[in-house]
Amino acid sequence: MDFLDALRQQLGPDAIIPPGEPMASYLTERRGLFADRPVLAVVRPADSAGVAAAVRSSAEHGIAVIPQGGNTGLCGGAAAGTGDRAIILSLERLNRIRAVDADNFSVTAEAGCRLSAVQAAAAAVDRLFPLSYAAEGECQIGGNLATNAGGMNVLRYGNARDLTLGLEVVLADGRIWNGLRALRKDNSGYDLKDLFIGAEGTLGIITAATLKLFPAVRERATAIVGLESAESAVALFGMLRAESGDSVTSCELMGRQPLAFAIDYADGCAEPLPARYPWYLLIELTSSAREAGLGRRLERALSAAPAGTGDYRIADDADEAAAFWRLRNGIPAAQKGAGASIKNDISVPVADMPAFMDAAARIVRAACPGVRVCAFGHIGDGNIHFNLTRPETMTDADFLAEWDPLTAKVHDTVMAYNGSFAAEHGVGQLKPGEVSRLKDPVEQDLMRRLKSALDPTNHLNPNKVVPPAGD
Ligand SMILES: Cc1cc2nc3c(=O)[nH]c(=O)nc-3n(C[C@H](O)[C@H](O)[C@H](O)COP(=O)(O)OP(=O)(O)OC[C@H]3O[C@@H](n4cnc5c(N)ncnc54)[C@H](O)[C@@H]3O)c2cc1C
Repeated sequence: MDFLDALRQQLGPDAIIPPGEPMASYLTERRGLFADRPVLAVVRPADSAGVAAAVRSSAEHGIAVIPQGGNTGLCGGAAAGTGDRAIILSLERLNRIRAVDADNFSVTAEAGCRLSAVQAAAAAVDRLFPLSYAAEGECQIGGNLATNAGGMNVLRYGNARDLTLGLEVVLADGRIWNGLRALRKDNSGYDLKDLFIGAEGTLGIITAATLKLFPAVRERATAIVGLESAESAVALFGMLRAESGDSVTSCELMGRQPLAFAIDYADGCAEPLPARYPWYLLIELTSSAREAGLGRRLERALSAAPAGTGDYRIADDADEAAAFWRLRNGIPAAQKGAGASIKNDISVPVADMPAFMDAAARIVRAACPGVRVCAFGHIGDGNIHFNLTRPETMTDADFLAEWDPLTAKVHDTVMAYNGSFAAEHGVGQLKPGEVSRLKDPVEQDLMRRLKSALDPTNHLNPNKVVPPAGD
């Protein structure tokens, strides 16, 4: 019996989607860079034992396994490489919330649960699961952990890694590691879960996770502030964080250029302040207390803000706050309206962000006159999307031909500021070359050793994240 027939018999007919039309959605890729890469089948087990069976059988037949969650990743991690003999292993049917424990402030969810479903399970017991960002209705918790997703609330609650207490993982040989412990303290050996978080499916398949919950948010205050410089944005952020009783949950920076794109091209976006500024901060304070007086606290802090802070507006109600967030969340789609973009998801220490952005903007403008720098993102975490939109006089194709040289210039500048060229979205098959070019050789060697220790036959998401030796 061939590989797929055997799997069909083990997992049931619904579990196998052969090549053809129904497979199309699994072969899409957000940025169109790795779309329509053929695979032998999409395999959709219904439980962890089914995942283990698929992985074991793939190992025996020398077939690569590409785990796929919501397929919202932006680096081609959930798509096949060129010429791979591979299956896509979709986790979508592992979509049960196994347990919610309000007293232990924890939830155990299967990997295929959408992020929004985990948030809803927490809310149902008056708790908060704080991981949140624009793709939350589509991405899955397994994908979030595999990419160590960040989002809007990292500043206060940490990224996916910080929110994880325990994991269940299918290993490369098909064994299941049950590490679903709901403990805050466990020093009984190596912390193995951290190997699989952020590994983008190259070391094991996450099938379930026990995650931290927090008290539900009962009060929220949201403001948008105009600023004369990126330095004044960093100064304001520092002051607010220090003075607000640690209630700053989100702090998003937007340059005038991306804000203008959102106003021009995104639905329901309007000028937020009477005057125009080179930079804007979107700030949100939250509290679990019923009467924390956050609006007054924000007003007091903003009226004593450091030099360089311009007009500000504190949202009167939830609708106005949503309008501020529409500006921020509208930017990625709005950029498309302005022409092709080269995306850079980078981080540097918060205090170095203004100098980095200044240096990088000078370098890319010298290399590509007229390029429109579109910098926005999670300044509170030192993480910015330093995107480049094509000059108005250039065609999309001519600009995209500059992807590698312009990206290399941005990444070189990032490294000069001790930053990371892959802050949130991971490496996938977009950036292994940059891992090889820019990461410390000792670190690369350790990564290769971990990969060969945990996946000796190299069939778990091969050629992603870890560059081959000598590359
Ligand atoms: C509009 C939009 C906004 C976004 N904003 C953010 C943001 O603010 N912050 C952020 O961090 N990311 C953001 N992303 C990126 C993306 O949503 C995240 O990378 C997300 O965590 C991916 O989850 P997914 O379920 O879609 O995973 P997929 O895209 O399906 O997979 C991503 C990677 O994880 C692997 N993988 C998936 N599931 C598993 C599993 N169960 N076990 C092992 N490996 C697995 C895949 O093989 C692949 O390498 C955004 C994306 C979009 C489209």
